[in-house]
This record gives sequence, structure tokens and C-alpha cells, in this order.
Amino acid sequence: MKQEIPYKIYLEEQEMPRQWYNVRADMKKKPAPILNPETLKPITAEELSHIFCEELAKQELDDTTPYFDIPDDIRNFYKMYRPSPLTRAYCLEKKLDTPAHIYYKFEGNNTSGSHKLNSAIAQAYYAKHQGLRGVTTETGAGQWGTALSMACAYLDLDCQVYMVKCSYEQKPFRREVMRTYGAKVTPSPSMNTEVGRKINAQFPGTSGSLGCAISEAVEAAMGQEGYRYVLGSVLNQVLLHQSVIGLETKAALDKYGIKADIIIGCAGGGSNLGGLISPFAGQMIKGEADYEIIAVEPASCPSLTRGVYAYDYCDTGRVCPLAKMYTLGSGFIPSANHSGGLRYHGMSSTVSELYDQGYLKARSVEQTEVFKAAQMFARVEGILPAPESSHAIRVAIDEALKCRETGEEKNIVFGLTGTGYFDMVAYQKFNDGNMVDYIPTDEELQKAAAALPKV
Ligand SMILES: *Cc1c(COP(=O)(O)O)cnc(C)c1O
Repeated sequence: MKQEIPYKIYLEEQEMPRQWYNVRADMKKKPAPILNPETLKPITAEELSHIFCEELAKQELDDTTPYFDIPDDIRNFYKMYRPSPLTRAYCLEKKLDTPAHIYYKFEGNNTSGSHKLNSAIAQAYYAKHQGLRGVTTETGAGQWGTALSMACAYLDLDCQVYMVKCSYEQKPFRREVMRTYGAKVTPSPSMNTEVGRKINAQFPGTSGSLGCAISEAVEAAMGQEGYRYVLGSVLNQVLLHQSVIGLETKAALDKYGIKADIIIGCAGGGSNLGGLISPFAGQMIKGEADYEIIAVEPASCPSLTRGVYAYDYCDTGRVCPLAKMYTLGSGFIPSANHSGGLRYHGMSSTVSELYDQGYLKARSVEQTEVFKAAQMFARVEGILPAPESSHAIRVAIDEALKCRETGEEKNIVFGLTGTGYFDMVAYQKFNDGNMVDYIPTDEELQKAAAALPKV
């Protein structure tokens, strides 16, 4: 007899994963190694440990160990907001009149409002464990900075956040959440660092960029005894920590004998998507199961769908290691888009390699369509989604509508990465009918790609 599936599939605390899963260990062809920006040779753990914590540098380079134990202190922190629910979107299904079954894994159930806390607590933990005094980072939209502030407050670590100046000014509430958790927030470019002073002299009055804030945060870490730099997306270590999302999703589905047909995630730097799909992609690689995996990106910043697969710099200042990834070029500046977390020029090297090998597809969607999906979702499912997450909602709705045409009863699973309470300016634009969709021209993309480093 078929078991009735509840609205929310909860896991018990003791069912929460005890290990993270490193999908790279099971990949036959591995992602290309990251390179030292000075020598252009594969970077060593020793070299990396000048920028990152030692344990994280090891995780970054490890493509053979499939499982890493989650330390108890991190698991205990996770218990404050995990396991996160996997929700059956019965109300959305009804609204769409679709035979498809839609499920979403909700990661917005913590004060920082996104999945980024899963990696923030891990990175802060390893910094503390190494006896460091603090960490530095950048934040664009503000979600990562908020998550890191929470993690550092919990572990009593100093937290210095370089926040892109336009965000610092436009999102004062995000800034105040970070300060409430004890972080020192500096608008970037600042006068604290050499690179900041240089950029301010070169472009007086500039409102900053993510690439510039990264360079400042790295310089700040290198210049202070007992500090390291941490990053909230793109890196292998971040995907590893985010695998907790996919492992829980799989455990919840397995509990009710549900086999996903389509798995959808939004993709900025690729961390939530990579984490969500890791165990499923691992099964595909081992020939145990088959899934249709779809990465969704904004049409204004289409690294997978229109980028090139090449080595590129991860930051504008070119101080971070180079990674082989689908990229639009580190000089590409995406148009103002309301999904701040998806405005990165590149894509995680693991997600890029899985995409190149055909394990996942990519789709780009326009902003107005994304907000239409967000609005519908908010009205029927109750949660006010982050604009980033709404990219996945858009494609989940589109796939469910296809099922209405074909009558197929597919199981669609998507990642709902966060809530959108700090994005009300974007919602206001949408509600007022003033939202514009910007799509870069081929010429613009060619120009940015021509500036890729020759490696
Ligand atoms: C940062 C962010 C993203 C995009 O980052 P990924 O590394 O691609 O996961 C998506 N959703 C939310 C809510 C975010 O804060």
C-alpha cells in the first residue's frame, strides 16, 4: 500500500548526516587542479595554508577521500537549525494543476536566512581549532557575511567583513545584523588596504565590486597575525560542507521510497547546487541511478550556458588561485541584477566538470519571470523566497507545467536556498512593474572572454 506523504518530511536529529560527502572522490575524471597565481603550477596545501586554514586547505585539495567526519561541535551547531525540512509543495501542485510531485529542501530557516551558514560554521570551527584570532571575508549581497558573523559569534572569533560599498549603503539592515553578531563591517573599496586605496585613487567614488572586496579581504588576512581568509561559495571545501543539504534530502526521500526524477538548484558560485546534487551525482557516476539535474542561472550572468570552460582568476585583484571553470571572465561585470548571490563570473570547478561530463544541464532565466515564480510561490506556499532561490522555483514550475501537458507524474525536487526579507527593494521594483531584464550581448561576452589568462 502506498504511504501517504506528509507536507513536511522531517528527519530526526540522530538521522542528520555524521559525515560530509566529497563527490570528487568518486569522479573518474577529476576537476582540474587549482593553480598558484604566481607560478601557474598546481598549488600545494602548504601554499594554500597562507590564505586558508590548514584543515580547509587540505579539504580543498583532497579528491580521493569520499567521506569526512563532521566534528561534534559543528554537528551541535547544525542541530540549532537542522535537519532542515523537505516539504511536499502540495499547495503549489494544486495551483499549477499538475500531476507532478514537487518537493523543496528549505535552507532559509536560520537567522542568516540561507544555506551559507552550513559552511560558515565549518570554516569558523577550523579557524578556531587552529588557534587563529579571526577571519576576513567579503560579502556582496550580504548573506555570506551574515552567516559568517553568526558562526564567529558562536565560536568567539573576530570577524572582519568587506562589504561591497553599494550594498553597504543600500542594505543597511544586513549590515546591522552583522554588527549585532559582532562583525566589523567595512565598505569596500576602503582606505584600510593597499588594493582598496589603489582602486579608490583610480576610480574615485566607485561603489565597489565583489572581486575588489575579495582582494581587500585577502590582503587584510595576510597582513594580520592570526588571521585567515574565508570564502562562502565556489570552493571545493564549501561544496563539501554543503553536501549536508543533499545527504539530508536523499535520506528524507528514501524514508518514503521516493525516487527523484528531476533535481533543480540555482547556481551562483555553485555551492548549494553542488551540495544538493552531490549524493545523487555520485550515484549517477557509479551507475546506480539516473536523474535529470538542472542548474539554473540568471540570463544576465550566464556562466554555464554561455561561458567558456577555461582557467580563470577567481577575483578581480588576481590574488586568489586560478581555477578551471565555466566562466565569463574575471573582468565581466554583470548588469545590476537583484539576485546578488548569483552575480559571480565563474562556477565551482566541480560543478563545471560535472556539467562538462554531461551529468547536469543548465538553463538561464530572466529576472521578471523569476519574480513571477517567486510571487506565486509566496502566495501559495507561504515562504517569501530569496530572489536567488526563485531561479530554481521558476524552473520547477516550468517542469511541473510540462507534466501537466504530458500527464507525467514526475518527482521534482528543488533547493529553496533562502528567504528574501532583505530583498524588498527588488520585490518593490517587481510590484511596481519597473523590473528590467538585461541580457549581455555576444560582443560583451566575447570581450570579457578574450581577457582570460593564457594558461
Ligand atoms: C549565495 C546564495 C546563493 C548562490 O550561491 P551558490 O554558491 O551558487 O549556492 C543562492 N541562494 C541564496 C539564498 C544565497 O544566499
